[in-house]
Amino acid sequence: MSVDSPPQFGRFSLTPQSGTRIETKYRRIITDLPVPESLPYFERLQRHEPVAMQCQPPLLWDHAEGAIVHDPFGNRWIDWSSCVLVANAGHAHPKIHERVASLVDRRQLATYVFAHTDRVELVERLAAVAPDGLDKVFLLTTGSEAVENTVKLMRAWGRNQHPDKRTIVSFYGGFHGRTLGSQRAGGIPGLKTWIGDDDPTFIQVPFPDGYLQQDVSFEIFERTLDEAGINPAMVAGVVSETFLGIGPDFFPVDYAQDLRRWCDVNSALLTFDEVQAGFGRTGKFFAFEHYGVVPDLIACGKGISGSLPLAAVIGRGSVMDTFPVGSMTSTHSGSPLSVAAGLGAIDALVSEGLVERAARLESTIAAVLERLQRRHPKRIGCTRVKGLVGGVRVVQPGSLEPDPDFTHATVESCFRNGLLLFAPVGLGGGCLKIAPPLSIPEDALVESLNVFEEAFDGVAADA
Ligand code: PMP
Repeated sequence: MSVDSPPQFGRFSLTPQSGTRIETKYRRIITDLPVPESLPYFERLQRHEPVAMQCQPPLLWDHAEGAIVHDPFGNRWIDWSSCVLVANAGHAHPKIHERVASLVDRRQLATYVFAHTDRVELVERLAAVAPDGLDKVFLLTTGSEAVENTVKLMRAWGRNQHPDKRTIVSFYGGFHGRTLGSQRAGGIPGLKTWIGDDDPTFIQVPFPDGYLQQDVSFEIFERTLDEAGINPAMVAGVVSETFLGIGPDFFPVDYAQDLRRWCDVNSALLTFDEVQAGFGRTGKFFAFEHYGVVPDLIACGKGISGSLPLAAVIGRGSVMDTFPVGSMTSTHSGSPLSVAAGLGAIDALVSEGLVERAARLESTIAAVLERLQRRHPKRIGCTRVKGLVGGVRVVQPGSLEPDPDFTHATVESCFRNGLLLFAPVGLGGGCLKIAPPLSIPEDALVESLNVFEEAFDGVAADA
């Protein structure tokens, strides 16, 4: 940082500003923001962490409960981040907290691949919530690792059918993680230039979002493969986010069903990456339930534990057993605290009806987004919401070009007013994402939507 330029944390200003003080049932802003006492921590992070980590609003996290995030200085925010769609069950849900705390007291902290009773319970529980026939579960740590393993399973399974059956088809706009294999399947070209080459056995096709890709017919899928010279019989598998995180964009139901049929006809496996979409977020336990299709493999992460690092691949035994004893493991597979959190999270989602709750609250968000779009027709390219995940695509007036300055200013304004969003996502940073915990009280959701609308209107007025 130069001595002359004002301090920044990524795109966020580190110059404290004294905004309006706020005190409501859910929000409290009683200091300048960023909090002056927090600045030394950000400076220390900047000294020792890669700049890539400076991507979120400069809030020093103390703790979070339910839908409220607290800093150590007495401020509190309504959370629309859910820690990037992790805290579906609500932050520090008592069912998660109690299970984790009791294991800490029992000193069961690491187990490697040795058996423990909670691991037994969790794999049974996951197989039970998955569709019939998907009854094997491989526990992992991160979403990227889960996707990576679905790619590995699809390719190994394909090679067992035919030595050349190894092509993986995925969709433009998909984000599957940041490791090599998951990023090869990823569909955002700018994120994978670091790889340095294109692997011809990974191919992307347009996602039928009805926004940038107006033709949503399944014919586009087949035509794209044909034009790329791909023999469908040599496709090992297709992997897609169940909804594209950058939207959120959903498949038209008949497209998803055609995709399932195409996979069956060509003996290709179908994987849905439910890392972001699963565990109740869209108002169904798994988002693919909206399509009436069943995949062969499901990659899970984030909401699976609502907190600690946990991921999983759930799939058909015939595919999951492709690798022999000892050749598909991970040091932290079934790590006890994460597994305990997983059991607590599923328990909370099911016993408190949080999945149905997400479905019910969808209309509250939809009404506000429709109103906002009517007010800013040239600024909003499209809005989306399903369950408790929504998105607002902000564009340069009258075009489809994303407007990252506008979205950034909106996130910053919300932050100053006690509403926490994560940084804009999507192509060109044009998408404001709405993802509160599924347990958010209804009046907190309404209050936060008001804050969002005001922030958006304010940025539009200044632009
Ligand atoms: N898949 C999807 C759909 C995701 O949203 C993400 C994370 N944003 C990942 C995979 C990667 O998960 P992780 O960051 O836990 O590796």
